[in-house]
Amino acid sequence: MTGSTTGITAADKSENGGAKSDREACGHDAPGSSVMESQRARVARARTLAAPIIDTVLLKVASRCNINCRYCYVYNMGDTGWASQPKRMTRATLEAVVQSLADLSRSQDRAFAVVLHGGEPLLLGHVKLAFLLSALREYLPANCPISIQTNGILISDEILGACSEHRVTLGISIDGPKPVHDRFRVDHQGVGTFKRVLNGIDKLRNHPDSNQLFTGVLAVIDPASDPRQIYSFFKELGAPSVDFLYRDGDHSRLPRGKESVRSTEFGEWLSELLDIYLSDTDPIRIRLLDDMMKLLMGSSGTKEGVGTTEFGIVIIDTDGSIRKNDTLKSNYDGADLFERQWSVHTHSIESAVSTPEFAAYLALQRPSAAACRICPEFSVCGGGMPVNRWRDGHGYDNPTVYCADQLRLIGHMRNRICTLVPAHRP
Ligand code: SF4
Repeated sequence: MTGSTTGITAADKSENGGAKSDREACGHDAPGSSVMESQRARVARARTLAAPIIDTVLLKVASRCNINCRYCYVYNMGDTGWASQPKRMTRATLEAVVQSLADLSRSQDRAFAVVLHGGEPLLLGHVKLAFLLSALREYLPANCPISIQTNGILISDEILGACSEHRVTLGISIDGPKPVHDRFRVDHQGVGTFKRVLNGIDKLRNHPDSNQLFTGVLAVIDPASDPRQIYSFFKELGAPSVDFLYRDGDHSRLPRGKESVRSTEFGEWLSELLDIYLSDTDPIRIRLLDDMMKLLMGSSGTKEGVGTTEFGIVIIDTDGSIRKNDTLKSNYDGADLFERQWSVHTHSIESAVSTPEFAAYLALQRPSAAACRICPEFSVCGGGMPVNRWRDGHGYDNPTVYCADQLRLIGHMRNRICTLVPAHRP
């Protein structure tokens, strides 16, 4: 995602240019009939696909959040589905989830990861959380990783005790030092949450099993911030790794901080971060950059949204319904819903994921834009996340809105790797 825009091919430029004029001409809100036709075509094509292997099951154990991040795709990007969900999974839903996951583990021969998510998953409360973690460990194979992605504010001794007992890891969402974090990660009164998040991280770091419990932090990139300051902050924090995320946004709702589809603010930021990272003799692990460098040198990636590896992801919402990846909610209201209503109360996960509709949803990961299909950086970029490819009235057949940033970063990365490894000519 770095480098120079000189890497953009004629076809890329034409695609981006088209994106701008199409955006100006199209409507908003709901997908148009041509998009629906395109989705039907995907379903038809998907009839020939084999049943997918599920890599990750994401459990929305609480539908509300104790804070109100300004950029949050769940609450602040137009979708209102969360309001009709139960606030927390009930005991009956937790039991149905565990039963479904136990059945899934018997039906596929590969382990899958379980991620507790929200809203804020710790709003489930430590009693129900302990019940869920204990049941998951009892009924799932020992090699299924279980993790919690949390803002950290509600971390308590009881929660850490349950996580330690059941070998469950925690990732903390924090964007950087106080001025950076507090710009967007605020509570429902608009007050910055930095100090409260740091208190949670301190509890985690001070736990006797912190080395096993604390897997890393997840940070949304602020291109207005100084990458050197962000890197130093996370290193001093002692985070085992950092996972940087692009901001949500698409061709019809440009991500905050991105001036146009051709601008490269995020690519410039990540390129600078790459330089800092490569010059550090004792670096903190940055999964996004590690994955892209591995891909650039011909290996495979582990992160959704880069490279061409496909990931089977299932979301189970707070009422037990089986959904698409909920980041799609930022494209339009209800974008995470299947036409069929599946639920762990009435269906097995295996039956839901074996359908053409689910296969069509997974097929979205494969970019179909003409520019991506002929792009020289396709194997590293992969076309980006589906959520970032959407354009109102045109669906997902577009390069990511971060295409220019990706080309900037990949170009820079390629130059750096050639310098570091002179014999290697990726
Ligand atoms: S593969 Fe990535 S860099 Fe290439 S055209 Fe598609 S979005 Fe742009």
